[in-house]
Amino acid sequence: MATVEQEQVEAKQEAPSNLIEVENPGTGEIIATIPDLDAAAVAELAAKGRAAQPHWESYGFQGRARVMLRAQKWVMDNAERITKTIVSETGKTWEDAQLAEIGYAGNAFGFWAKEAEGFLADERVRSSQVLVLGKKLILRHRPLGLIGVIGPWNYPFTNSVGDCIPAMMAGNCVILKPSEYTPLTSMLIAEGLRECGLPEGVLQIATGRGATGAALIDQVDMVMFTGSTRTGRKVAAAAGERLIPCSLELGGNDPMIVCADSDLERAANYATYFSMQNAGQTCISIERVYVEEPVYDEFVQKVTEKVRALRVGNSEGGYGTVEVGAITFPAQLDVIRDHVTDAVDKGARVLTGGNEVPGKGRFYEPTVVVDVDHTMRIMTEETFGPTVPIMKVKDVDEAVRLSNDSQYGLGASVFTKDAEKGEQIARRLESGAANVNDALINYTVLELPMGGAKESGLGTRHGAGGIRKYCSQQAIVVTGRAMKKELFMYPYKPRTSKFLAGLFKLLYGRGERE
Ligand code: NAD
Repeated sequence: MATVEQEQVEAKQEAPSNLIEVENPGTGEIIATIPDLDAAAVAELAAKGRAAQPHWESYGFQGRARVMLRAQKWVMDNAERITKTIVSETGKTWEDAQLAEIGYAGNAFGFWAKEAEGFLADERVRSSQVLVLGKKLILRHRPLGLIGVIGPWNYPFTNSVGDCIPAMMAGNCVILKPSEYTPLTSMLIAEGLRECGLPEGVLQIATGRGATGAALIDQVDMVMFTGSTRTGRKVAAAAGERLIPCSLELGGNDPMIVCADSDLERAANYATYFSMQNAGQTCISIERVYVEEPVYDEFVQKVTEKVRALRVGNSEGGYGTVEVGAITFPAQLDVIRDHVTDAVDKGARVLTGGNEVPGKGRFYEPTVVVDVDHTMRIMTEETFGPTVPIMKVKDVDEAVRLSNDSQYGLGASVFTKDAEKGEQIARRLESGAANVNDALINYTVLELPMGGAKESGLGTRHGAGGIRKYCSQQAIVVTGRAMKKELFMYPYKPRTSKFLAGLFKLLYGRGERE
């Protein structure tokens, strides 16, 4: 069987016009060419997936878990090869690929293999409804059938393949449409899963652009989408037209609040790392920082020193080459440039960075911006780049108000030495997650739901909800031994109806109206 790398080279040699070129953003070179599948090709994949599903479901949880645990080991045995693939198509650093993709993969295959059965086990339900006394009541989670997963370019494993794992563990077949910018990781993992014994048709990769994603929604029983809020609206509308469920993980503009009583050194390290990690191209990156007046100057000085020390560039040399990698998506560079220019035009100051890096590849300097406010796009929109705008606030109330002054509500973080106070502030933030004296860490906790409030999404990944969404709920009521008919049935008689009226009063009419 040809490897993914061989297939890519062969595809590149043929290269007809319905192929997409995949670029290495760190070097600007074209590294592969992949098919741009049309609707007919997607329909063929769907037929194959539907045909494979009953057999895959019949594996049961234990059988499916065995495949996922082999995949966990396969990922660790092939970590270097996967990292190289991720780095080549995203331009991110080896460390960014290691921590948030390889580390996530290892954890996720094991987690869902172990926990899926518990999350989806039949539940025996007890009821307060007298009419079902003595009956067996069951809540059952049944796989939906064929799931479409559509992913973005910033985390080719975690935000694409990662969402396929619980969908498959629930007994579904999956068609994954990775980003047209970063399809190679998904293709490689699908090859690895085949090696681990995943039956044909259970996980298929539909490479292509947005139209391929739209065609996929026309075929599947549920769509799991990760990407921009703009595309998310289109996906929700298309899913609504077909009346299929969709789960949406969308954009963010995550705030960080630094209280005057915080450990400033830790807060500065976190502001630096989590605004620059993955070159700022993480949905839950720290995108804006609000600092209480008394510690503002010291905090700004610390962050500026730390950001100035970062090395930016091509990371293909391996671990430790640079701290900040490439801008993966060509148009993202325009957004970053526009946001910085807009801020400066409106009175902001750039303390370090603020420019593209000349030469090969696509890089932007790690950038600190101050004297910012909410008239500036860098504070109110998703920049998705290595930028950290820092704003001085009078007090915590102002920081909370500004944090919530956003269309988005994905993640947030609060820094204070008073953990109880931090928790109270976290509860006031309109976000899907809030970390106290930490940032982003919630994403790695697969037991907790991860999702967005407001325009950052609908539904969640991870936790029980992160696998139940790939199932329909079926209520099963089993009546064992019983009378020929129930009291409430025909013919209606005044005596029995009055008896039922009395029964309802007895059951439900004893409360107070106060
Ligand atoms: P995008 O919305 O441009 O594309 C995402 C995917 O949707 C791609 O595979 C694309 O081909 C496909 N697509 C485009 N049009 C489509 C259509 N009409 N129907 C179906 N599919 C279509 O997003 P992107 O630029 O790839 O990703 C960056 C965005 O993703 C950022 O906003 C980021 O915050 C967000 N993101 C969110 C999370 C999260 O968990 N909330 C995680 C990662 C990224």
